[in-house]
Amino acid sequence: MNIELRSDTFTKPTKGMMEAMFNAEVGDDVFNEDPTVSKLEQKLAEMFGMEAGLYCPSGTMTNQIAIRLHTGPQTEIICHKYSHIYLYEGGGIMSNSQASVKLLDGPLGKISPEDVEEAINPDDVHAPETTLVALENTMNKGGGSIYNLKEILPIKELCEKHGLKLHLDGARLFNALAVTGESPKDWGEAFDSISICLSKGLGCPVGSVLLGNAKFIHKARKVRKALGGGMRQAGFLAAAGIYALDHHVERLKEDHQRAERIGQILEQQEWVSEVFPVKTNIVIARLNDVAPAEMLERLKEQGIKAVKFGKDQVRFVTHLDFTDEHLEAFEEKVLSLRLQKDAE
Ligand SMILES: *Cc1c(COP(=O)(O)O)cnc(C)c1O
Repeated sequence: MNIELRSDTFTKPTKGMMEAMFNAEVGDDVFNEDPTVSKLEQKLAEMFGMEAGLYCPSGTMTNQIAIRLHTGPQTEIICHKYSHIYLYEGGGIMSNSQASVKLLDGPLGKISPEDVEEAINPDDVHAPETTLVALENTMNKGGGSIYNLKEILPIKELCEKHGLKLHLDGARLFNALAVTGESPKDWGEAFDSISICLSKGLGCPVGSVLLGNAKFIHKARKVRKALGGGMRQAGFLAAAGIYALDHHVERLKEDHQRAERIGQILEQQEWVSEVFPVKTNIVIARLNDVAPAEMLERLKEQGIKAVKFGKDQVRFVTHLDFTDEHLEAFEEKVLSLRLQKDAE
């Protein structure tokens, strides 16, 4: 059995999703004439109480467009040192926006209002002008950790006070909301722009949506074009997004329950020294006296796939295609690793 836990991006479209895709009504979206793309953009914008949305090929593109519009040469972004926008977007902040980055630290990938305030540059000839604070929820490298809205509001207040924009990399925002029960509208109200991934826990093959006010999204459309992200009959793909919003949001809780169980199993293994608190669908385990590459190889021999995540850590991510049968097999295989070891 292939026990795929490398990422929630490995899911394949379900039968229902495929049907929705095949039946999509389409047009040329570069001419703004694809009804399915427009419907997806409006649907998400309405959910979050924001004025408009823009469908893009990836979450990297939605984040990079937002950063491009909120910054520019000689400006600076404040974000956590473990942010996806900094670590995993190919250095796009520099090449797309020519902006500087101020990296903050903080437990589980989260930053505090105190540290944000301290990091805002004074109006001084030596310093780049701080224009943007970017947060991530859930926080991938923090082990799928969650911000509550009440942790965000003081940061939003600071942004207002200092005239800064606030962007959310909400690649897995629906995972966070599944836990906190907070309303998308309250989150929409707190941010100038939000990026939502459809290709993670929601199980779509492709796509992310950027949300913001109408003027911002109008400009974002031009940046998307310049980056080569204007797509034609993209409604075939957007239909998957609409389907996912209708069918795959409620079920995220199941991914979280399975991840919690994986965390419990891992905690009992002698090759694991520590498991990050499991809040959503991501489990990060710190290894005990074994290199990630070696451990991943031993897991792979058992059909379990995970990824290295830092010098002594590995990451497991649950998703739509990881079922209870996979979970049972996971437990069995991990236990058999221990027996092997005992026999040696
Ligand atoms: C996956 C992800 C993105 C976007 O990634 P793409 O692969 O470009 O869609 C952005 N932020 C976080 C936290 C992610 O996990």
